[in-house]
Amino acid sequence: MIYSEYGQTGKKVSAVGFGGMRFDESKSNEENAELLIYAYEKGINYFDTAPGYSSDRSEDIYGIGLSKLKGTFYVTSKAMPTKVDTSEKAIEAVKKSLERLKVDKINFYHVWCIRNMDHYSLAMRPGGQYEGLLKCKEEGLIEHIVFSSHQPGDQVKQVLDDGMFEGVLLGMNILNFPYRWDGVSYAYKNKYGVVAMNPLSGGMIPQHEEQLGYLTENNESATEAALRFNISCPEITVTLNGFTTREQIDMACRIADESKPFTEEDINKIRAKLGTNMNSVCTACGYCKDCPVGIPIPSYMQHYNEKQIFSADDDALKNILKFSHEWGLLASNSVRAKACIECGKCERDCTQHLPIIERLKYLNKLDS
Ligand code: SF4
Ligand code: SF4
Repeated sequence: MIYSEYGQTGKKVSAVGFGGMRFDESKSNEENAELLIYAYEKGINYFDTAPGYSSDRSEDIYGIGLSKLKGTFYVTSKAMPTKVDTSEKAIEAVKKSLERLKVDKINFYHVWCIRNMDHYSLAMRPGGQYEGLLKCKEEGLIEHIVFSSHQPGDQVKQVLDDGMFEGVLLGMNILNFPYRWDGVSYAYKNKYGVVAMNPLSGGMIPQHEEQLGYLTENNESATEAALRFNISCPEITVTLNGFTTREQIDMACRIADESKPFTEEDINKIRAKLGTNMNSVCTACGYCKDCPVGIPIPSYMQHYNEKQIFSADDDALKNILKFSHEWGLLASNSVRAKACIECGKCERDCTQHLPIIERLKYLNKLDS
């Protein structure tokens, strides 16, 4: 296992983190808790969860599993500023999580799911969530205040620059990293902890092994390549894996044991592979981002990639767009595809020469 310090907290955390959102719900809490014990024995010491995960059973499963661990481990939890919008509610949420997790303190507590700067302001306002978390920290109920973000890199930088958090949790994987890289590398260079979620693109990568074969080296599977990409990336402190089975834990730990860190050259090679192997796919280079009406073109084009790479049909794309407006890449910008005035600037700027206008028109029909 690779261990490194989470930001400047002094905590040595494992490169593979346990994500508590994919437990097998046909099993009992006790059976699922065995998985945490197994992971700990394999060297995993970072356990991430939140209220609501696994039909709201995750924190209770953690409570059973963590109370059996002997030795040092780190546990997280989270609350959203949109729900926990006062200092009092924030304190109440922390106490409830402590009770369910059966621990005296939560090591890393997240202001959860910051999707745009309004959410950040909401968390930070006087009498808001952050104020409550500071009180919890003073009382020793939580140790480090961190945030989880679905924002573009420049907004992640803005939040970090305010200096109120010690680390960030964000979605990054081998397919979407060009969108997230700015935020990840900025956080790393400035000595913040960086936790990556969604390394297998929500299960998309294991489901499309054949199509993604071009990402692999030396007979590894696309799933292994994707895990290797995240786990061995020095800029990422912890990669969360939503484990359901012992075999998945074995694979992630083996990759952490075997892999060498990716160099900048390796990362550029993968970036190039994403481009050259799929000419009609958006590579997230961002050269088209200065749209005169403000359409978040790279984000829309990434969703179109779902059709290109994974053959997503109209219904699937409709759901992807709906989700994205609420939680994903499109949440931080309200300008819709329909605002396009067909000036053609983006197509002139596009490194992949993509028919962006046509793709936006297509997506617009599915954009409810
Ligand atoms: S063609 Fe449409 S999307 Fe492209 S830059 Fe012009 S207004 Fe923006
Ligand atoms: S310029 Fe083209 S390839 Fe690059 S982000 Fe924009 S649409 Fe994607």
